[in-house]
Amino acid sequence: MNEKNILENIKLTNFLLENLTTAVFLVDKELKVRKVNSAYKELFAKSENEVLNKLCGNSIGCSFAEESNKLCGTTKECAQCTIRGCVNKGFKDINEIQNTYITRKFYIEGKPLMKYFRIKTKYVHYENEDMAIIAIDDVTELEEEKNKIKDMAQRDYLTNLYNRRYLYEMGDMMFQNALRGNMNIIVVMIDIDFFKKINDNYGHGAGDFILKTISDVFKENLRKADIISRYGGEEFCIVMNVKEKRDGVIIMEKIREIVEKQSFIYEGKKIDVTISVGVSLEIEETFEECIKIADKLLYEAKEKGRNRVIAE
Ligand code: GH3
Ligand code: MG
Ligand code: MG
Repeated sequence: MNEKNILENIKLTNFLLENLTTAVFLVDKELKVRKVNSAYKELFAKSENEVLNKLCGNSIGCSFAEESNKLCGTTKECAQCTIRGCVNKGFKDINEIQNTYITRKFYIEGKPLMKYFRIKTKYVHYENEDMAIIAIDDVTELEEEKNKIKDMAQRDYLTNLYNRRYLYEMGDMMFQNALRGNMNIIVVMIDIDFFKKINDNYGHGAGDFILKTISDVFKENLRKADIISRYGGEEFCIVMNVKEKRDGVIIMEKIREIVEKQSFIYEGKKIDVTISVGVSLEIEETFEECIKIADKLLYEAKEKGRNRVIAE
């Protein structure tokens, strides 16, 4: 049986289509939907009547069409749509299967959902017309799990800051960029003062609470482009992306002051906390060297009486 015969055997085609977990639909040359299977109806929560003769994007709730309230193919983003690209390529190259992968928002039952789709398309001759068959595998759950695991491997469980491994990976990339003169960075080491006493006086739970609250102060006062990491127990390392190095020192001085003045209330008790900070302003030979200098300055800050920022 050749390809044409199989598709002309309507009973067999329908049996195959209806028993797939992959959403499959046919579109004509104008990208109007002409046939859909059950998995399609389930994935996009639409009945066949709702989508027949609608354009591809309008039938599947593509955010490009949905958010601009336009027809599929007429929005700015449609020019970059790889589904459209694959379908059109298939009409030229009728024996090839086109593969693509998209991460895009779709409106399903009116709700915007970020979806990860693995898509295959191919030209087919169906009911005496040139059409494209589009097969969509929804791999959203798998991708979200993968992202979650990746994120977990990069973060510290208690504070949700980056961990030391991520710091060395990304910090080194920023350092290399700074070496090439593409950006300005400063490397900051922070240590909580007399933290052992906090644990001893108020309990480990209080210590954990302080670690989390101070981490939030960092997150609130720094930018997304900065790497904020928990370096060890009550030590943090920040690689800050700055326009002027002095601005970075001013930010760290502000953070030190916020921590000093903040009321840390744990189980009804007010706990006073301060931090000491060392800031390495120069680009040394390696990223590790910058960390070492920042660490040395941090210990100078400790020796000079704590609760201060030393930059060099
Ligand atoms: P200094 O001002 O010289 O830094 O004194 P310090 O007491 O902060 O320094 P030290 O290194 O003696 O003590 C650090 C303490 O941090 C000891 C350790 O038990 C505590 N610590 C480390 N990790 C955690 C954590 O995850 N939770 C809590 N509650 N305590 C932690
Ligand atoms: Mg310490
Ligand atoms: Mg300490």
